[in-house]
Amino acid sequence: MPTVQTSAELYDTPEHHAFRDVARKFVQEELAPRAREFDEQGRIDKSVYRRMGELGFLGIRYDPRWGGAGLDWSYSAILFEELGFADNAGVTLGISVQTDMATPSLHEFGSDDLRERFLVPAIRGEMVGAIAVTEPDAGSDVAGIKTRAVRDGDSWVINGSKIYITNAATADFLCLLAVTDPDAGYGGFTQIIVPTASEGFSYELLDKIGNRGSDTGLLFFDDVRVPVANTIGDIGRGFQQQMMQFQDERLVAAVQANASAEHLWEITRDWCKERVVFGKPLAKMQVTQFKLVEMLTRITADREMIHACVRRRVRGEDATKEISMAKLIAGRTSRAVADECIQLHGGFGYMRESAAGRGFVDSRLTSIGGGADEVMMQYLAKMVGL
Ligand SMILES: Cc1cc2nc3c(=O)[nH]c(=O)nc-3n(C[C@H](O)[C@H](O)[C@H](O)COP(=O)(O)OP(=O)(O)OC[C@H]3O[C@@H](n4cnc5c(N)ncnc54)[C@H](O)[C@@H]3O)c2cc1C
Repeated sequence: MPTVQTSAELYDTPEHHAFRDVARKFVQEELAPRAREFDEQGRIDKSVYRRMGELGFLGIRYDPRWGGAGLDWSYSAILFEELGFADNAGVTLGISVQTDMATPSLHEFGSDDLRERFLVPAIRGEMVGAIAVTEPDAGSDVAGIKTRAVRDGDSWVINGSKIYITNAATADFLCLLAVTDPDAGYGGFTQIIVPTASEGFSYELLDKIGNRGSDTGLLFFDDVRVPVANTIGDIGRGFQQQMMQFQDERLVAAVQANASAEHLWEITRDWCKERVVFGKPLAKMQVTQFKLVEMLTRITADREMIHACVRRRVRGEDATKEISMAKLIAGRTSRAVADECIQLHGGFGYMRESAAGRGFVDSRLTSIGGGADEVMMQYLAKMVGL
């Protein structure tokens, strides 16, 4: 019986159950046992992407024409609900970059040639992608980015830098957002696929406090030349396309945060049943019971909210408002849960080997990355007419 039980008719078909079984087996047998190894090496082996490609996990919603499974958001949600139990948020983050952050625009707006060259191998797990938006002087304010792509005949010549980029060292290509016309306002940005083997591209790795299972870096572009044919969609539509791509990123971030909170809650419940203080298990103290059930209530309520977003996406409806709310609450709940869980673990929770300790630092990211809580609230305030 799953810990979080929702009105999940969304997932209640034999096909969904079969998909979850395969995802669970993969996570439990192939990822969770290697969680510490990924943390120590600070990146995900490329073989993990290839294996996920074989299992059909890297193109769940993508057109079968490009090797995708042609399924809907409910299957993506199942995959990331299971990945929350991989015991390594950094690994889940790296995978979600590939599936829901670096490739949705390419699938939606890329030319057939671009899809052949980058999307098909990404879906097979033969190429790894990264999403390169944030810059040293512009994160929340995406329109403040400065990285320039200047047209020279059939090429873009790119100069600038990007920071905090997941999969920086692992990626074979970047989905880059660059300024192509500084005088055109929101019409002056373009999404461009940049192979990381391009001359003039380099990176430095950054040392993170959490999510250590995938690499994060600072990227440099020094006269990097790529064909104009690597443009995703229309020149000048990059900002709008990236805003659409953010919807997948934010929904997957909410699912991840919520599932990781459920996993941490289960670990903490088991710990509280075992750990004896003042002559009885922690779980027999009413104060502990109240903490645990209150956390579970919040996780379950967030799951319902997330499922509402998934339902809207499955029906093809706009879910911008609901996704902003879901990312906001899932991020906040996951850090509140992680704070209680580390407390209930006592000194052991403070050890790196403890899931509670890792969960405490890992969970902090959702409220910052992919649009901070304040950015979600800024959108929401606008959307409700404030
Ligand atoms: C581990 C990790 C992985 C990441 N991976 C990627 C990646 O793969 N690709 C990528 O492009 N980026 C990535 N990022 C960057 C991430 O998306 C940015 O850090 C985030 O968008 C915030 O931008 P910033 O760091 O520049 O903070 P700033 O924009 O400087 O904001 C600082 C703080 O100001 C507050 N704030 C922001 N806006 C408002 C507002 N309107 N009102 C009030 N307060 C506000 C928020 O609390 C925010 O945290 C990653 C970050 C981390 C830490």
